[in-house]
Amino acid sequence: MLLTITYTGESTPDLGYLLYKNPNRCPQSFDLAFGRAHVFYPEVTDGRTTAALLLDIDPLDLAKGKGGSEGLFDFVNDRPYVSSSFMSVAIAKVFGTAMTGRADAHQGLSDSPLDLSAEIAMLPCNTNFAMLPRIFEPLGYAVSVDTSVLDESFPEWGESRYVNLSLRGSVRLRDLLRHIYVLLPVFDRHKHYWVGDDEVEKLLRLGGEWLENHPERKYIVDRYLYRQRGLVNEYFTRLNDGLEEPEEKPAREPSLNAKRLDAVLNALKASGARTVIDLGCGEGRLLSLLLKDGQFTKIAGTDVSQSSLKRASDRLRLETASESISERVTLFQGSLTYKDRRVTGYDAASVMEVIEHLDAARLGVFERVLFGYARPRVIVLTTPNRDYNAVYERLAADELRHGDHRFEWTRAEFLSWAEAVTAKYGYKLEISGVGEANGEYGFPTQMGVFELCE
Ligand code: SAH
Repeated sequence: MLLTITYTGESTPDLGYLLYKNPNRCPQSFDLAFGRAHVFYPEVTDGRTTAALLLDIDPLDLAKGKGGSEGLFDFVNDRPYVSSSFMSVAIAKVFGTAMTGRADAHQGLSDSPLDLSAEIAMLPCNTNFAMLPRIFEPLGYAVSVDTSVLDESFPEWGESRYVNLSLRGSVRLRDLLRHIYVLLPVFDRHKHYWVGDDEVEKLLRLGGEWLENHPERKYIVDRYLYRQRGLVNEYFTRLNDGLEEPEEKPAREPSLNAKRLDAVLNALKASGARTVIDLGCGEGRLLSLLLKDGQFTKIAGTDVSQSSLKRASDRLRLETASESISERVTLFQGSLTYKDRRVTGYDAASVMEVIEHLDAARLGVFERVLFGYARPRVIVLTTPNRDYNAVYERLAADELRHGDHRFEWTRAEFLSWAEAVTAKYGYKLEISGVGEANGEYGFPTQMGVFELCE
């Protein structure tokens, strides 16, 4: 993936001083945790100088979890070819000083707006093209977006979700770099790193005034922080202007996630189950609630992601737990789409916000494994209600709530799926919702409780 920055004007090779990369000593290469970055200058004339940052990453290393990627990627992934959060990391590493604006003998140039343009190749933007000008124009750029159809022989496949983006404006170099640094991950929904507290810090530092006054600030902050309500709130609180956006709930209102945990826990308690397995347990939030409740004598959590399991184990403090606790809880890596003896023998299973991460083509296998093979007496399953997405202003039409969701079901779709599995595998069904209901669109989360027929 490639980023180029062009300076047009007089004595433009001075761009090299601001970037701390000599145009005559190229290419210069840098090791990154996930690959290598190369800087070179395809064009150096007095009136026009272009610096290029080329990122060379190995998709297999990412799939294996190298470089902080936590094994979040499939073996076949788009990462080497697109402008993603990896590019942001490379910008910080290679042009870190330029981003601060420090330029020693060339401070005057660094502090001045220059005629700069940037070309960002293959930006993933989920066909939400309309947002590109809304995000970049208020920052003073002329924006040009080059879209393409996926395959000219198959126009019905529609447009590619990647675009080539060109920006041109009179801006300080440090601002251009900061804009790109913050905004690439806003469009790239598939971040490779864990978004935590330090990202709030970065956003405050690098966002500064331009973000504070941006008309799409909420959109940018939400996405940069991957819609983690806690972090988004922290950003706004620290900005000192509180939560003025009407869609935000006061901090004391429990999050949808908390309500969902509560609803699933209550359904499990009501079922009388003593032994429970949480399938796709993620970081173990539900497990930690189950553990606090004496009704549950045997608790298991399983997930495909080793890093999630590690976080679950930390959350439950399993390493230092007493024997009575560690005897009650088991964590193991596994997939819901493989028949696995370890998921059998539990009274109940929970599957919270997991099925939408499975490829639709694998759902049949999942059903056979859970309803046909493991066959717990009770299954509590939740999934987003796609109808409700209309209530989320910030979601473009047809956009899903999370970059890794393979589908989200309307209420009708969920009902018809749930009725079909109930009939096929001999379960009874009760459907309900979690969160604050909207009169027209229903609850944000849909929940099904399946009970094995005697
Ligand atoms: N149940 C948790 C986590 C939901 S996120 C909660 O509600 O907080 C979805 C989880 O499903 C992730 O942790 C992901 O690693 C896991 N997952 C995705 N595909 C899976 C599969 N095929 N088998 C098991 N877990 C899977």
